[in-house]
Amino acid sequence: MREVDTDVLIVGDGPVGQTLAVLMAQRGWAVTVVDRWPQPYTMSRAVAFDSEAARILSAAGITDFVSGETEPSGRYVWQNAEGKILLDIQGSPKGWCHWPDSTSMYQPGLEGALTDRGKQLPTLRVLRGQEAVDVADHGSHVELTCVGSTGERQVLSARWLVGCDGANSFVRGRIGTGMRDLRFSRDWLICDVVLDEPRTFDPNNLQICDPARPRTEASAGPGHRRWEFMRVEGESVDELDTVESAWRLLKLFDITPDNATLLRHAVYSFQAKWAESWRSGRMLIAGDAAHLMPPFAGQGMCSGIRDAANLAWKLDLLLRGQAADAVLDTYVSERVKHVQHAVRMSVDLGKVICQLDPAAAADRDTVMIAARERGVGTGAPQAPVHPLRGGLLCSGGGRLAGKLSPQARIRRGAEAGLFDDVVGTGFVLLSVEDPRQFLDADALAFLESVGTRLVTVVPADATASGDAVADVEDVYLPYLAGAEARAVLVRPDYYVFGQVTNAEDYSALAGDLRQQISALTMAS
Ligand SMILES: Cc1cc2nc3c(=O)[nH]c(=O)nc-3n(C[C@H](O)[C@H](O)[C@H](O)COP(=O)(O)OP(=O)(O)OC[C@H]3O[C@@H](n4cnc5c(N)ncnc54)[C@H](O)[C@@H]3O)c2cc1C
Repeated sequence: MREVDTDVLIVGDGPVGQTLAVLMAQRGWAVTVVDRWPQPYTMSRAVAFDSEAARILSAAGITDFVSGETEPSGRYVWQNAEGKILLDIQGSPKGWCHWPDSTSMYQPGLEGALTDRGKQLPTLRVLRGQEAVDVADHGSHVELTCVGSTGERQVLSARWLVGCDGANSFVRGRIGTGMRDLRFSRDWLICDVVLDEPRTFDPNNLQICDPARPRTEASAGPGHRRWEFMRVEGESVDELDTVESAWRLLKLFDITPDNATLLRHAVYSFQAKWAESWRSGRMLIAGDAAHLMPPFAGQGMCSGIRDAANLAWKLDLLLRGQAADAVLDTYVSERVKHVQHAVRMSVDLGKVICQLDPAAAADRDTVMIAARERGVGTGAPQAPVHPLRGGLLCSGGGRLAGKLSPQARIRRGAEAGLFDDVVGTGFVLLSVEDPRQFLDADALAFLESVGTRLVTVVPADATASGDAVADVEDVYLPYLAGAEARAVLVRPDYYVFGQVTNAEDYSALAGDLRQQISALTMAS
């Protein structure tokens, strides 16, 4: 193969490009990131991420940020114009992946943590002030032309190019895909605020479904708050997008120049669309380049972070020569389905929240209040993502196949901590017994060749050493028992490839993974 400058070239140093870059460089690959701006953008867009995204970010080496510079988002309440509660969700501080259901954060802090993490990785280089202006796929490699701030051009070559270049993606344009547009668009004024004196907010996050002016109040990470106001009929974007409008509307929440600093205000037009094709040859897209959604479910960046986790292990297998480029088609097919669910769910929430017709809003309130009185909708929020259906999964792999695996604390020998930290990431065969006694030699050799960690879970009070881990929070054994599984084979992005129900399934499961990966190799 031709000598190239880098294995993976990423256009866009936003949170998705950064996450992908770190996940690939941690695996030892040469990664180059280009971004058109000399400095990172200093303002927040996202204010929260979910439990799964937190797990991925922690695996990207920024656990200190995830646990130390954030806060659990906590309670989320929807009220009507009269202050009656329509929905009351108590987000758990311990979600499915151990991290809270929702974590509030300051996005520049997240990006700063990922930048610092990237600097620790010798094979990762970030070239800022470089705008991607041209790209050519030569079959064996790809060449990207960038223009620097003083007009100088440089050409970078790579085995793979990933456009994480946001809503107006240049790479998406070169892939030449159409967009599926759900035609849901609403304008909202976003106000990011720092209060002079700390204040207690209960609920921490509030949606006021007032047809006269839908509005939102949310935590935006420690020390930061976000208020959002929808543009209503008869009002132009220009009228709404002023400092005066921001302060006038913030006063509804007792936020004034006497008690707060307005960091910024901006009107965003929320959109709901996704690219129909995420790949052409050696070029792919991820994050906002591939999908856009209104922020009502807090899933835009989370979906992009999931894209990065899904793509990283497949690119890794591919670069190692253990799969062919057809494996990347499963990145597209798996992620596009997940994302469609997130976009549609965000639009559904948006239609309820953004109701401007007073009569329709009154009907909505009646239904939601009645549902609440019957105890509907008061529990934990529904997970915003679907299980994977199809893709790189064991066909007939049992009821856990395609579902996200949980994370909890475990103990091994003298070491105790989160599963991913103690065991490490990659393929994991998580079993209630020593799987070696059931795996034939070929199956075992194959699992080892893709770096699978064989882990036997034992009860909390049992001795755990070697491959055994103690289930100190009593999560893994009930999880497996609940699905009548003796084991699960978990992919590096934490989704279950398939489960073992009978002893003979062990080798069959490994064989199925090998067959799927080698089929993908032969398909090249
Ligand atoms: C008001 C609002 C609230 C939100 N709240 C949430 C939330 O709570 N939770 C959540 O998960 N998501 C939320 N989102 C969505 C989230 O902000 C985005 O999904 C996320 O920031 C997208 O990250 P990205 O890395 O894909 O793209 P971006 O952050 O847009 O980064 C793209 C990068 O590519 C660079 N670039 C673009 N073109 C080129 C080029 N030609 N050459 C070189 N570089 C280029 C840009 O300079 C930029 O740095 C919210 C969005 C908005 C607007």
